[in-house]
Amino acid sequence: MENKKELRTWLDDMKLDHPLVIAGPCSAETEEQVLKIAHELKDTDVTVFRAGVWKPRTRPGGFEGVGAVALPWLKKVKEQTGLLTAVEVANVAHVKLALEADVDILWLGARTTVNPFAVQEVADALEGTDKIVLIKNPINPDLALWLGGVERLYKANIKNLGVIHRGFSSYKKTRYRNVPQWQLPIELKRQFPDLPIINDPSHICGNRTGIQEISQIALDLNFEGLMIETHITPDEAWSDAAQQITPARLVEIMNDLKVRKPKA
Ligand code: PEP
Ligand code: MN
Repeated sequence: MENKKELRTWLDDMKLDHPLVIAGPCSAETEEQVLKIAHELKDTDVTVFRAGVWKPRTRPGGFEGVGAVALPWLKKVKEQTGLLTAVEVANVAHVKLALEADVDILWLGARTTVNPFAVQEVADALEGTDKIVLIKNPINPDLALWLGGVERLYKANIKNLGVIHRGFSSYKKTRYRNVPQWQLPIELKRQFPDLPIINDPSHICGNRTGIQEISQIALDLNFEGLMIETHITPDEAWSDAAQQITPARLVEIMNDLKVRKPKA
């Protein structure tokens, strides 16, 4: 795959005067929770509402998502707030249900990107779609695996593509839940400057305190956007409670970040 300008058309078409902000809960929990968060994000710089419906858990026994029952809630988010909607898809069944529910953006999670068979299955199910498809980095620091995922999607005639940098797992205990290893997204950006790249400080930090610092580094590196987990009552979240922030805190962070492009 060569670098191609067409890769960023979807983002340019949004005509934002600031980086793209995707926000919303780690997981859709209840219709009330989803709609409350979405309404609080409505009149902010957030353009896309995210919510995990199917949650891939590293170990069994955790909350694995409420499933397809949440897809109509996302439809209501779109109708009531005008926000675009985004969910993670990991297999053909997820893709079919998300497309039927007219979700705007589908993303592949870090645990899917590690598996070329799974990526290919999702790519085939999305063949030729006009939907925006984002692919997170694999959990391990392997740039080729990440780029291979992008190539599989591109070869399936999916042109509205982007990548999400969510850091890389490490055996060593560090201050990060997933070490940023900035050299990987920087190299990806060097090879594909027109492929939009979005930073996910929530899964990098694993806590609330580092979100602003990581977001600022990403913006300083000219990343095109941020995906930040946001919840009305973060401490009570059914997944990733430690890292989620309230919509009010998100607005504060966005105001403090130097996110706006200087006027030409
Ligand atoms: C998520 O976005 O909630 C998620 C499961 O992320 P990741 O694939 O980066 O672990
Ligand atoms: Mn999460």
